[in-house]
Amino acid sequence: MTIAHHLGFPRIGAKRDLKWALERYWKGEITHDELQAICKRIRNENWAQQIQAGQDFLSVGDFSLYDHVLDLSFMLGVCPDRFKPAPGEIPTDTYFRMARGSAPTGTDTFACEMTKWFDTNYHYIVPELSEAQQFSICHTHLFTDIIEAQLLSKKVKPIILGPLSYLWLSKTQGAPFDKLALLPKLQKVYLDILTKLQAHNIEWVQIDEPILVLDLPLHWQQAFQSTYQFLQVNNLNLLLTTYFADLGKNAQLATALPTAGLHIDAVRGKQIDDIVAILPENKILSVGIVDGRNIWRTDLRQALQTLTHVKNKIGERLWVGSSCSLLHCPVDLQMETQLDPDIKSWLAFSIQKCHEITFLARALNQTTQTIEAELVASDNIVSAKKASARIHNAHVKKRCQEVTPDMMQRKNPYAVRKVAQEASLNLPLFPTTTIGSFPQTSHIRQLRQQFKSGQITEKEYHASIKQEIAFAIQQQLELGLDVLVHGEAERNDMVEYFGEQLQGFAFTQYGWVQSYGSRCVKPPIIYGDVSRTKPMTVDWISYAQSLTDKPVKAMLTGPMTILGWSFVRNDQSRQETAKQIALALSDEVRDLVKAGIKVIQIDEPAFREGLPLQKEYWSDYLREAVLAFRLSASCIPDHIQIHTHMCYSEFNDTIEAIANLDADVITIETSRSAMELLKAFENFNYPNDIGPGVYDIHSPRIPTTSEIVHLLEKAAAFIQVKQLWINPDCGLKTRDWKETRLALKNMVSAAMLLREKYSLT
Ligand code: GLN
Ligand code: ZN
Repeated sequence: MTIAHHLGFPRIGAKRDLKWALERYWKGEITHDELQAICKRIRNENWAQQIQAGQDFLSVGDFSLYDHVLDLSFMLGVCPDRFKPAPGEIPTDTYFRMARGSAPTGTDTFACEMTKWFDTNYHYIVPELSEAQQFSICHTHLFTDIIEAQLLSKKVKPIILGPLSYLWLSKTQGAPFDKLALLPKLQKVYLDILTKLQAHNIEWVQIDEPILVLDLPLHWQQAFQSTYQFLQVNNLNLLLTTYFADLGKNAQLATALPTAGLHIDAVRGKQIDDIVAILPENKILSVGIVDGRNIWRTDLRQALQTLTHVKNKIGERLWVGSSCSLLHCPVDLQMETQLDPDIKSWLAFSIQKCHEITFLARALNQTTQTIEAELVASDNIVSAKKASARIHNAHVKKRCQEVTPDMMQRKNPYAVRKVAQEASLNLPLFPTTTIGSFPQTSHIRQLRQQFKSGQITEKEYHASIKQEIAFAIQQQLELGLDVLVHGEAERNDMVEYFGEQLQGFAFTQYGWVQSYGSRCVKPPIIYGDVSRTKPMTVDWISYAQSLTDKPVKAMLTGPMTILGWSFVRNDQSRQETAKQIALALSDEVRDLVKAGIKVIQIDEPAFREGLPLQKEYWSDYLREAVLAFRLSASCIPDHIQIHTHMCYSEFNDTIEAIANLDADVITIETSRSAMELLKAFENFNYPNDIGPGVYDIHSPRIPTTSEIVHLLEKAAAFIQVKQLWINPDCGLKTRDWKETRLALKNMVSAAMLLREKYSLT
């Protein structure tokens, strides 16, 4: 019998129940017992859904109070000294302190680092391992959850992150050492865990080793062999799961490991046939065919065809699964009452995906009477979607086809443009600017709320936003900044703001996905050809510009960021969608120029996030990403200055692509590393202007003038003085005005000191 299973269910609850519970607990509004009761309810609701969908296993280990990697650290006793529990402290509180940063006495200590989970928008808590690290089973939540699930079903599948991925994703503390030196100790504790699982009557364990899709150094590849040889427990089957890409060069390694089963991602990976060909006899192959990373309904007939082909070769050894954990999908499509019915019919969220998986398995087993009826229903939706006038816009498609290389290239090289821009903008040495947003005060948020709920009219809302803009301009004039911004008071989110105004985007009510801990995001859905029907920012920016003779910098979100932070189409390439977005943005750029705007920033904070997991695909991605940016930004005369912004400066491996963007000015994050990251610029002669962020906007601390001067002097060691700008390292929307004013005042003073110093030499 073909088994139906998913690789993990969302833990936030259909209405973000976990978020609300956590926040109330942290504020002291509910007790620990109440928090636990809510979590138990979410787990039980998740299991009820899985049972109802006919899944062959209930999943355990996918629920987490904050993050599953932190859960594992906690279970293994990996707790840095600075978080050692206070006497009598409940473990959950120690756990939260690790995630959120405070010492046992309640004083602040830095939290564990958080970083992106592979190429997703989920963030995990990075384990910190010391050279003398010991591991033992310190917490037993995994086993208590199993007992809880076993009350509902005999078939429970625990999910646990594998030892090699755990090690790979962790960082070392103290003097550097080879993490693999800890592997023997880690193997022992994993063997203990597996032995205990077997004692809990577990038959199958899902052991996630997503690093198998990465380019692994040889000694890591070898470590897989020895580890899985060691992790053998009688009567316990391991399903080794890989996801987010195909196995690439690790295909042979992964299939040959001594585990009872292997799971591959058949949505992002394109290797099914290769894997089937080398699959050892007796090994189970779980084919992840239902997309765990996107919200589209599965084309059931096509999926069944693929699976049948596999089944013909491996028979009963085939399992059907989600491509990866459903953590990256919203919970329940049924909750969407306001979505356009056509669009809704094209979608499936986690619950619906569980049903799809089960249907496919049952269809393979021929145990469902309604196979053909369901396939026909699916076909109808597939063909209706294909033909839908909502998706296809002939004008957009034609425009995309007619894109020529000259449209992705400024007319003249930067050296020529720089002269024209100097004449037009007349800026001093070390020009000062900010990244776009100014404090989103509670007043601004309230206005938006009132407008959305109909308490105030559009006219009233616009008038109030204009007041905010005027205030921001006034503040910047008083501070003496050189290139001003309007402050982004009208935006609550840099992608949503544009998505709401572009054709081809849909928004859900409950389409939340966990980003980290209690934080969730609701990505827009790009379902159709993207176009702009009218200007999106011109009124606000023109108004700001009308208040001052100094240049006001317009703010747009770049194509790769809009793409990266949305659910994207699966019926055309990402590159094609990026092109459409870029063309829509170029329309906006042109209109801004027509309105007399001379400086335009196109933010690309998600540029790096889009990098493929395997290096061999990097150059393709970078080429497409650069072209999309340039398509949005090249349609303008030389004297118009294009800025871009990225919230990081790890440019060592991408600096050429960054330079290829050919933005006149790039502002980046460098303050937290005290300009260390500018080393990428040491061996690379970056041609255009750069604003290395001079202070960390994430901290309420006010930087001093001399500190800023010092940082800029450090930057001047890597970059020519005439290329340098002075700015904070990101937008100021999370800060308050008092901090903002004080920090910017010091920043402007620093610019003056530097001008004096460097104009003399
Ligand atoms: N212009 C945006 C802002 O200032 C940029 C945000 C970002 O880099 N993430 O808020
Ligand atoms: Zn930023």
